[in-house]
Amino acid sequence: MAKLFIASFGAETNTFSPIPTGIQSFEEAILAHGKFTQTPMSGFLPSMHVWREMAEAQGWEVVESLTAAAIPAGKVVASVYGSFRDEIMCDLQEAGPCDMVLLNLHGAMVAEGEDDCEGDLLKACRDIVGPDVILGALLDPHAHLTDKMVDIADILHFYKEYPHTDISDRARELFDIALKTSTGDVKPVMSVADCRMVSMFLTTQEPAKGVVEQLVEFEQSHPTVLAASLVHGFPWGDVEDNGAKALIVTDNDYALGQVLANRLVDHIWSARDGTISYYTDLDDALALLADKQDGKPLVLAEFGDNSGAGAPSDATYIIQKLLDQYINDVAIGMLWDPMVLQMAVNAGEGAEIDVRLGGKVGPVSGEPLDLTARVAALRDNINQPFGERTVPTERVALLETNGLSIVVNEKRRQPVHPIIFEELGVDIAAQRALIVKSSNHFYAGFAPIADQIIYLKSPGAVTPDFAKIPYRKRSLNYWPRVDDPFADLRRAEVKKGSGTDG
Ligand SMILES: [Zn+2]
Repeated sequence: MAKLFIASFGAETNTFSPIPTGIQSFEEAILAHGKFTQTPMSGFLPSMHVWREMAEAQGWEVVESLTAAAIPAGKVVASVYGSFRDEIMCDLQEAGPCDMVLLNLHGAMVAEGEDDCEGDLLKACRDIVGPDVILGALLDPHAHLTDKMVDIADILHFYKEYPHTDISDRARELFDIALKTSTGDVKPVMSVADCRMVSMFLTTQEPAKGVVEQLVEFEQSHPTVLAASLVHGFPWGDVEDNGAKALIVTDNDYALGQVLANRLVDHIWSARDGTISYYTDLDDALALLADKQDGKPLVLAEFGDNSGAGAPSDATYIIQKLLDQYINDVAIGMLWDPMVLQMAVNAGEGAEIDVRLGGKVGPVSGEPLDLTARVAALRDNINQPFGERTVPTERVALLETNGLSIVVNEKRRQPVHPIIFEELGVDIAAQRALIVKSSNHFYAGFAPIADQIIYLKSPGAVTPDFAKIPYRKRSLNYWPRVDDPFADLRRAEVKKGSGTDG
């Protein structure tokens, strides 16, 4: 009987976040030792279930190891990374000879002392199973694609959509390609081209929507193309291999793969301005807000302090500016300050307290604010509707100060629905603006009540000001930091063409 080994281990590491990703970060998200597929399948992490089902339908034996996913934050603590890695490798040793190993990875995990966790995990698996066992991985496009990963794995496959709505489909495709490899029907080889670009690619709108269409076209119109991916990159991971890359997996047709990978890079390059055009400077947005008289509130996305991408979510830059400019009737949520939350709970609803609010986690959060505030409301938890799921807030308090309504939370959670303001008694219609510490997950919930949605180019651990991310390890030769990151290649071409070195 053929045997499949599966494991899942991932984190999206924001190396600029001072918050360590420790054991608690996994326990609060997903952590199951070998029995994850016994829980109901969810849209969030379906791959393990999909692979078990497909393998068992083929009459294969399935050996299941760890499933671990973390709430996004800073680097994974070395001992935690080491113990989960060891757990997977021990299970793989104990499983005995396997025919296929499939890993569900994120792709942007950075641990203390290891910048390329995925390359490291693939290498450790390869060392155990040897060169002939099929080794494949499914990854989130917010990943750092390294040469090591490409050299060691047989097949790497990525979700195409952001928001990630296509995980199950991609998991199935990976299994199919791996199965055809096991029967000798195909021999996967991977071709990569670097976009030399750091940006975000929302595939629900142009230009990234057209990129997905091109990927599908590559897969459908070329018989030797097994899979085509755009690795978006994760801008806030300071590692050498950070950035967008095109990856084409072909049936032993490396040259075609390279041609198509380069074609994809050309497509993205020509559409590059469209990927950053929707961010607004903070001061421009505040000017709009100060002038606003009536109508529905503006919704301002404080992209730079989104806990969902690893930021602390206690940044004070915008509140400070609102105070400085005496702008009132603005509600802000959610600011992570468990200490202030505790003071508010102890003082009780209606109390007035002096607080040193936010700005505590580190320099990325700005300065703390010394304020006198009224505890307008307290709640143990608010369940925010989010598609078919709900996202809890856990304990929250509404603080009112200087005409501002600030929702403070105890656990780092992202706002995805205006219920976080409504349940605490904020009169939404009376606000000039709602400021949400979120990148895009807030959109469905807030769009219906918004006059206009503005994505802020604000500071913080996930600033969308891609030209200014303070990389130390990543090369600075990327767009939009430089206008033409391919200039060196062109110069080399000209030199070669001229046939002289002067
Ligand atoms: Zn992602």
